[in-house]
Amino acid sequence: MANLGIPSNTIEILKKYNFSFQKKFGQNFLIDTSVLERIVKYSEITKDDMVVEIGPGIGTMTQYLCEHARKVVAVEIDDALIPILKDTLKDYDNVKVIHEDILKVDLNKLVEEENDGKKIKVVANLPYYITTPIIMGLFEKHVPVESITIMVQKEVAKRMEAGPGTKDYGALSLAVNYYSEPEIVANVPPNCFMPRPNVSSAVIRLKLFDKPKVDANEKLLFKLIRAAFNQRRKTLVNAINNFSELNYTKDEVVKALETIHKSENIRGEALTLSEFAELSNVLENLRKH
Ligand code: SAM
Repeated sequence: MANLGIPSNTIEILKKYNFSFQKKFGQNFLIDTSVLERIVKYSEITKDDMVVEIGPGIGTMTQYLCEHARKVVAVEIDDALIPILKDTLKDYDNVKVIHEDILKVDLNKLVEEENDGKKIKVVANLPYYITTPIIMGLFEKHVPVESITIMVQKEVAKRMEAGPGTKDYGALSLAVNYYSEPEIVANVPPNCFMPRPNVSSAVIRLKLFDKPKVDANEKLLFKLIRAAFNQRRKTLVNAINNFSELNYTKDEVVKALETIHKSENIRGEALTLSEFAELSNVLENLRKH
């Protein structure tokens, strides 16, 4: 089968199947072999790996993944793409296409069944509207994942990498840094896709830690983080006090901040991940005694 990273081959397949792009599925197919090669290189896939690809489209990246991995499982939602994938991937016997919405797939079960529970690598050129739920789902459900190499909107990649005190810093930055080491490995302009998106994209690689970067009660830590960034312009004391899922008084939060040597007027956006963890540990201990 011809390399679909070459635009004329993609056009031929689209014509053959009379395919029409569906905006609701965020369909922008890659048509640049150098970007595809970079994704494969930075995902560090070897013949030992099982890779899960989210949203294979017409199978452009899937072909590259099949060449480099032991096994590829590709999850695609669009009915119209299933017969196309059968055609474009017919030369490979190490690929399985699952016709499903990725948000409905039990990935822990899939890894157990397809890879004996051993860590997988995730690669995707994601539909932008589901980037955050997909990544948070992989993290929070503790799916055995070694790395996630994904094409996302450039702004989202920047948010994932951001540190305290910057405008991009938020709950997503903290979650990504709690579970993984992020690195933007490529910037990708709109002309590398068909059709061209309105925004620039970036490939970011997240290498997951064996255990989270800081010690804290995960549930409480992320409630505090969500409280802080739900009301970003408020002081942390007010944001926590107003957050319905937490029941700490203002006094308790002021004292906890004092314990970690922070001002009662501080905003959440000024706290590092370690400081959020310290605060979480102090607040948790309050209720234990
Ligand atoms: N990987 C292909 C490429 O790079 O050319 C296609 C990328 S395109 C940006 C996103 C793909 O994800 C589309 O094929 C789309 O149909 C699929 N998709 C969208 N929502 C999905 C979902 N909830 N579950 C699985 N696939 C989805």
